[in-house]
Amino acid sequence: MTVAVPRTAVAALPRVVGSSLRVPLVTGERVEYANLDHAASAPCLEQVRDAVDELLPWYASVHRGAGFASQVSTKVYEQARASVRRFLGARASDAVVFTRNTTDALNLLARSVPKHTAVILFDTEHHAALLPWRGPNVRRLRTPASPAQAVLELDRALRAAPVGPRLVVVTGASNVTGEVWPVAELSRVARRHGARIALDAAQLAPHRPVDVRALDVDYTVLSGHKVYAPFGAGALVGRSDWLQAAEPYLVGGGATARVTDHGDRLGVAWSAVPERHEAGTPNVVGVHALAVACDVLSRHWEQTAGHERVLLERLRAGLKTVPGVHELALFGPDHDRVGVVSFTVGGQDAGYLAAALSAEHGIGVRDGAFCAHVAVHRLTHGDRALRASIGLGTTEEHVDRFVAALRTLVVEGS
Ligand code: PLP
Repeated sequence: MTVAVPRTAVAALPRVVGSSLRVPLVTGERVEYANLDHAASAPCLEQVRDAVDELLPWYASVHRGAGFASQVSTKVYEQARASVRRFLGARASDAVVFTRNTTDALNLLARSVPKHTAVILFDTEHHAALLPWRGPNVRRLRTPASPAQAVLELDRALRAAPVGPRLVVVTGASNVTGEVWPVAELSRVARRHGARIALDAAQLAPHRPVDVRALDVDYTVLSGHKVYAPFGAGALVGRSDWLQAAEPYLVGGGATARVTDHGDRLGVAWSAVPERHEAGTPNVVGVHALAVACDVLSRHWEQTAGHERVLLERLRAGLKTVPGVHELALFGPDHDRVGVVSFTVGGQDAGYLAAALSAEHGIGVRDGAFCAHVAVHRLTHGDRALRASIGLGTTEEHVDRFVAALRTLVVEGS
């Protein structure tokens, strides 16, 4: 089955840098690179590159300098908070703390929750969301077979949770299957039991608008490199009280309002949120890139969604034609998903197939367990998987070449 991408929609899509890069094959021939690994890191948007280029002559240390460049950088840095807030539909009272990435943001949140907080999450989360929580009050629920059951399981776990602060951690879209989680429903349950809810939007934010007020979540985390900005900047956005009460886990300049010498000890008064959790010279360029990417995506959701819907349909239909392909799903093949598809190929090694797709066909996919070992091992019964993920840098030709190449490799290898 072939599905044509409407030309008008393609023309209006934001363009990514390096869309016609050519890569060498083992034969020595060069072909256009087909990047089907957007879920790992999305390519940079042209508008982001241009914005970074404009800032480069001006970047300087923020907040501390009186010089013009420092003023420009400070303004850009603070405006970026407004862009990220707008992108997520966050409350005016929410803190926007810049971090290195989603992992950093979740670790910061984990260090900031009050002592004895009961933390509840599903066990198929990405390691960034699964691992930062420690202590006897962490409850990892086995991911059930349907969203409705997930809601019931969460309700049961919260009924049994100890009295005191409670936090539910949930992903917006799985980085393994692309499936969209019932965040609003889970948040309703959390509210009934007086719990807060944190949303790992790393994989949802590049594909769909995230509206934290509509979803009614307390904290949201994301990474710039997944939303078409280069590496180095992410954000934790959410209620400031826990963050304001927490000692910074990264200490140093910028996080301190005042340091005083008391002879045998130093007295330290920490800054208020967000600076409290942004010690050291911040990544002004990375944060600007993240903010511009957020602004560009916000203006193009309709085109982005249309582009991805058509390509995802084409990708999944194509995979069905390859012998032995088994697509992974937590909730079932018909559940709503973003442009991420993981699969196994009966009797064939995922690592070999990924390497051959690259060397012989110039196609980049991911293989392994995608930093979600519990999810992948459960869905593959201990095997490694392949993941193809699409986005603004993907074309029909990439998808078709991938499906044809995979078919050739599978048929040759069987
Ligand atoms: N959460 C999800 C759902 C992800 O897909 C990823 C990255 O793949 C992360 C968290 C971690 O993101 P980062 O590596 O940018 O910290």
